[in-house]
Amino acid sequence: MSVAEDEQDTTELLAAELSVELTSFIGCFGGGWTSLPSDGVDLDVDTTGLGNLFGPWHVHGRPFQIAMRPTGRREVEIGTPLGRWVGAGSLLWVVDRRERIDVDDPELSARLSRLAKTRRTTFRYCTSCARIVGPEDRDGSTCHDCMSRWLGVVF
Ligand SMILES: [Zn+2]
Repeated sequence: MSVAEDEQDTTELLAAELSVELTSFIGCFGGGWTSLPSDGVDLDVDTTGLGNLFGPWHVHGRPFQIAMRPTGRREVEIGTPLGRWVGAGSLLWVVDRRERIDVDDPELSARLSRLAKTRRTTFRYCTSCARIVGPEDRDGSTCHDCMSRWLGVVF
């Protein structure tokens, strides 16, 4: 499955799960949602290792800007995705600044926008390739891809 197909499928599934028409969902949450990569090992959700007790997280944006998961028929939990390296090559995603909100709450768009802005303040352009990267994908001003490719650093 291509990235675009995965984003379309995930976005459509989230809209259906929340009983929101797709165009309304995209108007509020945006399109292009994908599953959080470390889904099921989100240790701050469940330290017993049984996985996410309230269902999988989904993320929006590249780098990820917002995390969201349905927690009820018309309710979502939203937050800021944070990547933490927990060993060589192991990036664990957790969700910070969580809050629950009804999908019909008029504050929802403003809250999503605030979370995304907060996360975007941590993004930087790589001085080597000029791509924008999150803090989990760089050391200093150079992204990990460039450090591997041009400096021989092994992650
Ligand atoms: Zn780079």
